[in-house]
Amino acid sequence: MIDFYKTSAVEIAKNVKSGEWKAVDIAQTYLDRINDKNKSLNAFIRIYDDVIESAQAIDDKRNNGKPLGNLAGVPIGIKDNMCEKNRLTTACSKILSGYKPPYNATVIDKIEQQDGLIIGKTNMDEFAMGSSNETSFYGAVNNPFDTDRIPGGSSGGSAVAVSAGLTPLSLGSDTGGSIRQPAALCGVLGMKPTYGRVSRYGLMAYSSSLDQIGPFARYSEDAALLLNSIAGYDNKDSSSVDIEKPDYLENKITSLKGKKIGIVRSFMDEGLSTEIKTTIENNVIDVLKSLGAEIIEVELPHSKFGIAAYYLVATAEASSNLGRYDGIHYGFRSENINDLESIYVNSRSEGFGPEVIRRILLGTFSLSAGYYEEYYNKATKVRRLILNDYISAFKNVDAILTPTSPTCAFKKGEKSSNPIEMYLSDIYTVCNNLSGLPGISFNCGFSKEGLPIGAQFTGNVFEENELLQLVNIFEKNSSHHLTTPNI
Ligand code: GLN
Repeated sequence: MIDFYKTSAVEIAKNVKSGEWKAVDIAQTYLDRINDKNKSLNAFIRIYDDVIESAQAIDDKRNNGKPLGNLAGVPIGIKDNMCEKNRLTTACSKILSGYKPPYNATVIDKIEQQDGLIIGKTNMDEFAMGSSNETSFYGAVNNPFDTDRIPGGSSGGSAVAVSAGLTPLSLGSDTGGSIRQPAALCGVLGMKPTYGRVSRYGLMAYSSSLDQIGPFARYSEDAALLLNSIAGYDNKDSSSVDIEKPDYLENKITSLKGKKIGIVRSFMDEGLSTEIKTTIENNVIDVLKSLGAEIIEVELPHSKFGIAAYYLVATAEASSNLGRYDGIHYGFRSENINDLESIYVNSRSEGFGPEVIRRILLGTFSLSAGYYEEYYNKATKVRRLILNDYISAFKNVDAILTPTSPTCAFKKGEKSSNPIEMYLSDIYTVCNNLSGLPGISFNCGFSKEGLPIGAQFTGNVFEENELLQLVNIFEKNSSHHLTTPNI
């Protein structure tokens, strides 16, 4: 019944709502697919054993004459850093082994209110720190287009789940690119909404002023469907913004006449693979022009400081946020303890992986007396300058088109011993987080080796709909997003 790549979430929800399809059948079909494919991908680290029961409850609700919500029966994978009541949630870290939160993240409640079917937790870099999904306590995730390669990170499991047809929708979190970069490397769509658009309540904090939850999907309409359910004000998140939410499914534009799309010359030169550059020029810019868009060069002069500012802010906030994992309150405690200090030191030393420890050390250093002004404070000033660049650019354009990642998916292990190389994977994505702006990555073609290439639109604040509309019209005029991995 289901073609895993062609059946959209919109279609599943519509048919389950009308009673044409049974949520139980949909669930079983995807569970069989996961059973068959997940071993070679490691995208899901946990599949709930009550999925069929939950699906039955959705069917029963309908059979009892109650209307179903907008995500009726749609299987959804959740990144392992979003709390689900009484379900293991570990941010793929040993330090949270055995941790079952006593409450749901707001996004989980919202999905359940709309009768979405959460099927399990997806793999990720430990505490969302990474660009390759190699730092997970549960092992690396494999890219379905070439299983010797990384899927990107940190939401690699959620990207692969959609790319490989294990689920039509998933959620990721994006602190510096962790939704958009793996989406690009796995050939799917991934969106980071504006900071404050989706509640962070119940998201295990990495860098609180940068983190944002967003959807992975194959089709822009499916991303819109999920965003419709999870976006909106939440009084449990003090950074949540109380403004009206549009219906993201109203993707009605049929032409780009009058639209102005900015391109950043410096983003298209040094450091970018020439294959990605030509693919974006030929497959995206030309299509946008043919649909009537005007392409305008804009400048983001401070973006060259983005990586440096990002890794200062992110590690500083992480060092504070991860202070709560002390061997007492949550999850893992070392067995090698004899006093309070050894509980802290040994639980943290044994519970955190090397990348997380590196970042806690970096962040603690940059916040320390004598260095704070020099590093953290300066980074926050750079952040403002980056935002000012965007404010100027958006006076002249409706959206900005850039690459998502400087390279296609690289081989596993290739950058593990060189953190700076790894950090540069985020060069085109971190500025959105530093400035709070929304970004969407979508597939726009393939390399000679058959690896997906992503392009990114950045929008003005709360212009998620603009981004979804742009990708939607692009999808109608190209077929790259329909190419799927051969697994
Ligand atoms: N790769 C970046 C980092 O390691 C971004 C991670 C993220 O967005 N969570 O910090």
